[in-house]
Amino acid sequence: MNLSEIKRLDSEHFLGVFGERCPVCFTRGEGCTLYDQDGKAYTDLFAGIAVNALGYNHPAVTGALVAQAQTGVLHTSNLYYVEPQAKLAALLCENTFADRVFFSNSGAEANEGAMKLARKFFCAQGSGRYKIVSSDHSFHGRTLATVAATGHDYYQAPYLPMLPRGFSQVPYNDLDALRAAVDEDTAAVMLEPIQGEGGVTPADKEYLRAVRALCDETGALLILDEVQTGVCRTGSFYCYEQYGVTPDIMTSAKGLGCGFPIGAVLATEKVASAIAIGDHGSTFGGNTLACAVSLSAVSYMLGHDFSAAAREKGEYLRTALCAIGSDKIAEVRGMGLLLGVQLVPEVSAGALVRRLLSRGFVVGTAAGNVLRLTPPLIIEHAQIDAFVQALGEELQNV
Ligand SMILES: *Cc1c(COP(=O)(O)O)cnc(C)c1O
Repeated sequence: MNLSEIKRLDSEHFLGVFGERCPVCFTRGEGCTLYDQDGKAYTDLFAGIAVNALGYNHPAVTGALVAQAQTGVLHTSNLYYVEPQAKLAALLCENTFADRVFFSNSGAEANEGAMKLARKFFCAQGSGRYKIVSSDHSFHGRTLATVAATGHDYYQAPYLPMLPRGFSQVPYNDLDALRAAVDEDTAAVMLEPIQGEGGVTPADKEYLRAVRALCDETGALLILDEVQTGVCRTGSFYCYEQYGVTPDIMTSAKGLGCGFPIGAVLATEKVASAIAIGDHGSTFGGNTLACAVSLSAVSYMLGHDFSAAAREKGEYLRTALCAIGSDKIAEVRGMGLLLGVQLVPEVSAGALVRRLLSRGFVVGTAAGNVLRLTPPLIIEHAQIDAFVQALGEELQNV
């Protein structure tokens, strides 16, 4: 089917939430390269929104997926033991602060689980603490509760009144505002260590440390949403390590399955001990296929020190971006291979994405006219060089 036929079916039958998409349909991928229906090659610096950390057709992903599929067992339900689920839970606990893990199918669902855990933690103590304080310009997902936690009218306005009560947002990186918002009813503070969708804005180190101290002081739990920042992307397995701040609950998704949908809630034993049989559950969450793929991909990334690779390549990319020396670039922000290029208002990030696409480079945007670069962690220096060269030329042309 050619692109115009696909576009016609999409515009006639698909719910109109994505509108006019980038005019391409990728049909094949290898390494860091995607191919469209005409065989045109594109270098990918977006990875399907920071998901495809191992690029395309990586043996650690494709091999595990095919091998598991060939056993015939994709899913058995959580009524039975699931070997890759148990192993993946152990692997995540061995490599993080967490003692226990629960698997979901997406980031939003992981955040739902995290907020339920926080409320149950206090409920189990006979406390009525229920409020969740998050931040402006945050993004926590599209379910009703995660939309309530997402600090953006754009996401909330069509769905008022917000279903669960007790959500509020404060300016990011503003300790006084957070201090004023946290009270004796606050169950948790929920933050992204780097706001991804919101514009690739990292938390200040002192801020996140002070947030941890504030939580300790007030008894609120700290939930870190590492759905976008996790799994080696920012230069450590999870981003919190680089801040020296340990959460009570953390969520993961995007890069966790390297293209296969899976999410996770991770928690300390202190928090997890409040959970009783039947408090939470999922039909598909933690299914055999998702866990087999994730186990293989995450083991590979840990075994080959992808955190160091993300640090090194991220520094290389950042340095090259700054070396463009363009007056159209206001700032380059982020950590590791989660980078945002803040453009001046005269240059539209959306338009730039389309021009780069036509030149064979896939990149994304974030809120606030930011070009978002989240390439597969396997990207090569030569691919970075070619992209930066093209970006420099495009910025000169506007
Ligand atoms: C993408 C994202 C989510 C939502 O994940 P879904 O898998 O789309 O539900 C939540 N939090 C953050 C920080 C994200 O980047």
